[in-house]
Amino acid sequence: MKLPTPHFISNRVLKVNVGFLLSAGAGNYQDSRLDIPDPLRVADDLDVHSIEGTLRLTRTKEGVLVQARVTIIVDNICSRCLDVVQQAIDLDLEELYAHPPSSISEFGIGADAILDLAPLLRAEVLIEKSHKILCREDCLGLCPECGANLNHEACTCNTEQIDPRLARLKELLDRE
Ligand SMILES: [Zn+2]
Ligand SMILES: [Zn+2]
Repeated sequence: MKLPTPHFISNRVLKVNVGFLLSAGAGNYQDSRLDIPDPLRVADDLDVHSIEGTLRLTRTKEGVLVQARVTIIVDNICSRCLDVVQQAIDLDLEELYAHPPSSISEFGIGADAILDLAPLLRAEVLIEKSHKILCREDCLGLCPECGANLNHEACTCNTEQIDPRLARLKELLDRE
């Protein structure tokens, strides 16, 4: 049986009241959209620009199964030039929230029937953010001499100096 779409207690805090699902039998589910176009503090150590996607909550014997496909826009740092880059992180999540909370899942739903998506999203996004990214494929990086961001400015350091013995090799490589 498909239940009506709920509203978030506040779309800013990712807390969903699932009392109606908990009182329904196993197998009942509810689909909704996550549309949070505004900056949001997911956790003390994670701010995001937006979250968009779909959310299915299914009542199981052990609690509520969360299935979500979301795109989350976050700030990240280019690993080459250290500029701030907006990164789109696509997540395909499936996680059980135990009710009552128990050792079968690190996520739980207490007596208040509030399912908080924040810790789940936080964990997944921080993993994705830890991978190195580039602001663009051909990011020029920082000058090793003066630290100038070579995407934005040319510096006068001569870092092209090359061992004459290697010059011939470079010439060959450049030709490719
Ligand atoms: Zn860069
Ligand atoms: Zn330089």
